[in-house]
Amino acid sequence: MLIVGAGLSGIGAAHHLQEAFPWRSYAIFEAREELGGTWDLFRYPGIRSDSDMHTLGYRFRPWTEAKSITDGPSILEYVRQTAQDGGIDAKIRFNHRVVRAAWSSEEARWTVEVERSDGEAVRLTCSFLWVCGGYYRYDEGFTPEFEGADRFRGELVHPQHWPEDLDYDGKRVVVIGSGATAVTLIPAMAERAAHVTMLQRSPTYIASLPAEDPIANRLRRVLPDRAVYSIVRWKNVLLQTFVYQLSRRRPQAIKRLIRRGLERGLPAGYDIDKHFTPRYNPWDQRMCLVPNGDLFATISAGRATVVTDTIRTFTEEGIELDSGERLDADVIVTATGLNLLFLGGIELSVDGETVDVPQTMTYKGMMLSGVPNLAFTVGYTNASWTLKADLTSEYVCRLLAHMDAHGYRKGVPEITDPGVEETPLLDFTSGYVLRSLDKFPKQGSKEPWKLRQNYVFDLRSIRRGAIDDGAMQFSSLQARPAREKISA
Ligand SMILES: Cc1cc2nc3c(=O)[nH]c(=O)nc-3n(C[C@H](O)[C@H](O)[C@H](O)COP(=O)(O)OP(=O)(O)OC[C@H]3O[C@@H](n4cnc5c(N)ncnc54)[C@H](O)[C@@H]3O)c2cc1C
Repeated sequence: MLIVGAGLSGIGAAHHLQEAFPWRSYAIFEAREELGGTWDLFRYPGIRSDSDMHTLGYRFRPWTEAKSITDGPSILEYVRQTAQDGGIDAKIRFNHRVVRAAWSSEEARWTVEVERSDGEAVRLTCSFLWVCGGYYRYDEGFTPEFEGADRFRGELVHPQHWPEDLDYDGKRVVVIGSGATAVTLIPAMAERAAHVTMLQRSPTYIASLPAEDPIANRLRRVLPDRAVYSIVRWKNVLLQTFVYQLSRRRPQAIKRLIRRGLERGLPAGYDIDKHFTPRYNPWDQRMCLVPNGDLFATISAGRATVVTDTIRTFTEEGIELDSGERLDADVIVTATGLNLLFLGGIELSVDGETVDVPQTMTYKGMMLSGVPNLAFTVGYTNASWTLKADLTSEYVCRLLAHMDAHGYRKGVPEITDPGVEETPLLDFTSGYVLRSLDKFPKQGSKEPWKLRQNYVFDLRSIRRGAIDDGAMQFSSLQARPAREKISA
């Protein structure tokens, strides 16, 4: 087994794998020199989760801290501890970027090509490839072309590459963007900056949640950690599923609820229509959550201002807007998003044929039609990532057990039902999704090709659904001995 990526998903995958098959040999190849993925890469002020740790945490490892919406370093520590406790860290080969993988049906093996950061190329084989490479490019965040950007004399920073020594004490800061990163950065930077301006082209739905879960903290006094975790995890799953379903079916009700929260958090007479009322419905794009209304408190205290306008050009001093307004700045942060990337950028081929990923369809949101012995972990877009990551791990372990029990060497999802129609993978209208959707696989109109984005539904189909469901095709090739073996 080869797991690609030592982030939250890769470490979780390894835990499930070694629990289910202690005898199986596996390795984790990680392109970077540290584990933790997202939670190690992003170092901007205030970096935190925007979902609760009772659902962003692993099912198998209770989150026991008081804060439920927590900071990046605490999440990184949680992932590190999981890796250490299970001896998973010893299986990681850092500085190993997987670039290509070729499947041979004759050998029932993947031949994997790896680039090491010292320039050395490595090639090895494995019987199953499990890609936990996240969903975006690590080398480069997304920055639109801004006219005159090179004229700006201050510091221009992307949150994905935060300079460790960036000094913004007493400085004027403009943060471009209105997504999760912008709303995290603004209260954190406002603590030291002279003033922070949030410059957004259009508003996002933003709701406040308590950073600590009072029910969890009260239950902890009387129940063991594992019981509390399970109860609070279910409470949050059901609540989030309810809010999401209500947003899709009764958007007006949710809009009213969000508005009431904004009216409570922002100063009287604040122009909520202009700055906090999007043109789309809740959950057409990802919703932002702010712990304890910190963003609203910062705005109310006069330490941050929201400007809703478009950029005409950067100038030496800052930004000139289409309205004619000028925003002078010492530091400009482009919180303009990520560049999405599927399968960690790995090129695939099956029996000599290149796999054209956009021509494939996702099976249960974790395998690709026509691609044998390969799974990938991608979390939910409307709930915590790890809920789906854990389910994916459970399914991969069930699949491997089924193959072992029947002596199968190859398992491949095939579209055998002629009634399955292609639809786009995600129905989000966010710019970063639309920009990249053509590089992603499709989903299908029916099970098991349809992506439900619904944990409760997936529990039934992924945790309990039949492995031999007609779409998964198995064969028991007589595999030749491996040319090389991964010894981890
Ligand atoms: C700023 C930020 C905040 C977020 N907050 C939340 C949140 O609150 N809740 C939530 O549910 N989700 C959140 N997400 C999504 C988040 O990415 C996931 O929650 C989760 O951390 C993903 O874990 P992962 O291991 O799947 O991917 P990553 O964390 O991206 O890790 C992938 C790892 O794979 C490695 N890798 C990639 N390609 C290759 C390759 N070809 N070869 C070798 N190694 C490779 C990378 O180097 C990396 O270490 C957030 C994302 C960002 C960017």
